Amino acid sequence: MHSTMMDVPLSLNSLLERAGQLFSSNEIVSRRPDKTLVRHTYGEWYRRTRSLAAALVDLGIGKGDRVATLCWNHHAHLECYFGIPAAGAVMHTLNIRLAPDEIGWIAGDARDRVLIVDDVLLPLYRQFADLHRFEHVIVYAFSGQPVPDGFTDYDAWIGAADGAGFRYVEHAETDPVAMCYTSGTTGRPKGVAYSHRSTVLHTLVASLGDFWGLKGSDVVLPVTPMFHANCWGVPYGTVMMGTKLVFPGPHLHPEDLLDLITAEQPTLSLGVPTIWMGLIQTFDAALQADHPHYGRWKLPRGMRSLVGGAAVPESLIRAFDQHGIWLLQGWGMTETSPLATVSYPKAELRNVSMDERYRRAAMAGVPVPLVDLRLRGDDGQDAPWNGQAMGEIQVRGPFITGSYHGVPVSEEKFTTDGWLRTGDVAAVDELGFVRITDRTKDLIKSGGEWISSVDLENALMAHPAVAEAAVIAIPDEKWSERPLACVVFRKGQSAEPPELSAHLMRHHFAKWQLPDRYEFIDALPRTATGKFWKLKLRELYPR
Ligand code: ADP
Repeated sequence: MHSTMMDVPLSLNSLLERAGQLFSSNEIVSRRPDKTLVRHTYGEWYRRTRSLAAALVDLGIGKGDRVATLCWNHHAHLECYFGIPAAGAVMHTLNIRLAPDEIGWIAGDARDRVLIVDDVLLPLYRQFADLHRFEHVIVYAFSGQPVPDGFTDYDAWIGAADGAGFRYVEHAETDPVAMCYTSGTTGRPKGVAYSHRSTVLHTLVASLGDFWGLKGSDVVLPVTPMFHANCWGVPYGTVMMGTKLVFPGPHLHPEDLLDLITAEQPTLSLGVPTIWMGLIQTFDAALQADHPHYGRWKLPRGMRSLVGGAAVPESLIRAFDQHGIWLLQGWGMTETSPLATVSYPKAELRNVSMDERYRRAAMAGVPVPLVDLRLRGDDGQDAPWNGQAMGEIQVRGPFITGSYHGVPVSEEKFTTDGWLRTGDVAAVDELGFVRITDRTKDLIKSGGEWISSVDLENALMAHPAVAEAAVIAIPDEKWSERPLACVVFRKGQSAEPPELSAHLMRHHFAKWQLPDRYEFIDALPRTATGKFWKLKLRELYPR
């Protein structure tokens, strides 16, 4: 039988058209550098996005060409998410938090032809401009100031193009739409390219009720940068559903985020755990009647918050739940689009205690549809899903990358039978809940036994005096490696090492698993995507 359904390619363009047709009055809010809010409707955004596509075609940009962005989170960046693919080109989001040399190297490796950059980020652009020559540099006047001489003004440029008459560039569903580089915490950055097909499938799966549960009536606050794994794919979903968006622009400090949250009352937000740790500390401190910001902020009860990119401590989940906000943990990576697992209350857990719900919420969760997941033990065999046996997570599916840009497929990254090797070590239990114990290279090997740095960190962060903790391995003559804990205390609080070790033993750690040493520091170094930067800590404490 040959005649089945129509062979219409999956396409971001159909999501764009749908938004223009159905949601023209819903809002897209962006906070500008001067902290004022600018409001666009989806209708305006749709017209501007088509004009961007037309302007790119006029520039001679064609199929598969890379168009880079160096931008904060705002409406014009969202125009790039759809306008660049509409022109047949590939949006390449550059990570503004990387060192300039590295950004230049990445732009060169991707062979980006055009750069769209916020005016406030021009000083950063100038630092790597010599490393890669873009054919065109287009400046978005995010600050509202005139665009400096010698650059094309984004608004004027798209304003001059015929958006209304624009015709979508034909494409196959496997053609690329976007590209991100892995942030390089584990080595040289590598490019991952997403297709129309992978992006649409990821959007449909991730939007399901147990995961993002995205509704047209939601108000979504993406704190996750739009250059971090495409803002976890959420902007594609919000456009699909015409959901109101609130972009925080360049202001990501806890106080600024709390101001924005109080003003716009989001129902769904997303960010890495470190963002939410800072936010809840600031919020809780201001609950004291003598605090200078007492009464200034209101958290929206019932908000869901997508958290991932690093392990989410149970203490953080409990702290937010006190205010009626549920943290929904996901695990994934740039290579997986990124959503691969989500921790949600499965039907089997309907009657479990709150303690058990928190415990599960602190796990990476259950594989989402279309993601096949297996655990490979050291012996090369599949490890059983019994909650104990550990192995490397390997995944396969239509939104998992099959290669890296310009890099030959190697066995280090892909198995011979076609699975992605994630480099994350985990156990999976009978219900299918994945518990990440470490990255392969973060595990601490002491006397032939593995110690999970993630477990130690989570337990330390459950101590009332501890704001943040990261555990690394230091070399040891006798045991080969031993744990070192780097701890940041909450304001005005402290604890001695014996007290912290006693606390860990109450959390069921054996004596030999306890850190040999504690370093008390003012702040943990962060990676370009806001995670604790263990590589830097290893440099700081080589022994
Ligand atoms: P990079 O690998 O360069 O940091 P990614 O943002 O793609 O860039 O990070 C993916 C990695 O982040 C995963 O391989 C995993 O180690 C970590 N990670 C993501 N989500 C979680 C989570 N929920 N729990 C623990 N680790 C996580």
